[in-house]
Amino acid sequence: MRRKSRRVMCGGLPIGDGAPVSIQSMTNTDTRDTEATLKQIRQLEEAGCQIVRISVPDREAAEAFHQIRKKTEIPLVADIHFDYRLAVEAIRAGADKVRINPGNIGGEDGVRAVTDAARKRRIPVRIGVNSGSIEKDILKKYGSPCAEGLVESALRNTKLVEKMGLEDIVLSVKSSDVVMNYRAYLLLAERTDYPLHIGVTESGTPSTGIIKSSVGLGALLLAGIGDTIRVSLTADPVREIPVAREILKNTGNFDGGIDFVSCPTCSRCRTDLTAIADEIAFRLGGIENEMLKKGMPKVKVAVMGCAVNGPGEASDADFGIACGDGKGVFFRNGHVEGTVDEADMADRIVSEVRRLTEKYAVCQKREEAERYRQEGEEE
Ligand code: SF4
Repeated sequence: MRRKSRRVMCGGLPIGDGAPVSIQSMTNTDTRDTEATLKQIRQLEEAGCQIVRISVPDREAAEAFHQIRKKTEIPLVADIHFDYRLAVEAIRAGADKVRINPGNIGGEDGVRAVTDAARKRRIPVRIGVNSGSIEKDILKKYGSPCAEGLVESALRNTKLVEKMGLEDIVLSVKSSDVVMNYRAYLLLAERTDYPLHIGVTESGTPSTGIIKSSVGLGALLLAGIGDTIRVSLTADPVREIPVAREILKNTGNFDGGIDFVSCPTCSRCRTDLTAIADEIAFRLGGIENEMLKKGMPKVKVAVMGCAVNGPGEASDADFGIACGDGKGVFFRNGHVEGTVDEADMADRIVSEVRRLTEKYAVCQKREEAERYRQEGEEE
């Protein structure tokens, strides 16, 4: 069950109060290079990103933010540190949200200038506290960065912003320590009903960062916590989006794309399942974006190595194959539709998913696509 939270709007996208958990990322181009930044925004959008954050470190970047805003419709968040005037400029330029740390934005006057500008344009402010940005007195109290310190800092800054009359607030309390991160969000979720932006900060390169983010965000989402997510990887940010989507899919927060099931194989397997599963997963990856753009519901595909667990998993999928010796039994919607040779398995699965996707473009309705799934049984 999702935690109850208030709702804020980021451009046209709702965050909180039961709205679907949104996926966001951050550009890593030089913001002043508007063409490169816009190109990356388009790539992120194409991959399924719904909110893009851009750092605005100086006046030139603030001017570039203005130009970028004019050329993209996607909700944009301006990420500002140290200089409240840049935040005010970004808000005037059309930012849909700003991310600040009130502790470093320029004292109470700076916070007031930002909250006044945000309130005027009715945009939310994210108060983003990281384990590296906890105030000195809080650090002294706890001895070192910890979940309690992160939450105390976030709530202190929230009070300051509330005092200035702004209540469109999103909170984050990120750490690169997954356990600390998890505990901080649990504590924060008990103490406030503002929507939460969740992420594991500085989680590293994809090899470790995907695991850290999956554990950290997965645990929170399964506990019903999180209204918008960011997977942070030391890599092209476009790579963050499919990871975020998989996390949402596997926590019951996203009904779309491909749910791919294949077994690890064992000595009972008499087909080259590893190669077949790899080929299917790769080829379906190319169709998935098309499915998502059309708003298709999730399609489950199962490719299993033998008759032990194969028929059960394959018949539970939209399209499945339970392999035997050089051949497999093909299932559509739980019903057997004959056999398929090993050499044709990948083509058969991919062509079925492609046909379903093409058909969806024509009918555009979930019920009609469901009817198409049944056609095979009637044919
Ligand atoms: Fe082994 Fe069959 Fe299970 Fe695959 S489905 S792991 S081949 S027993």
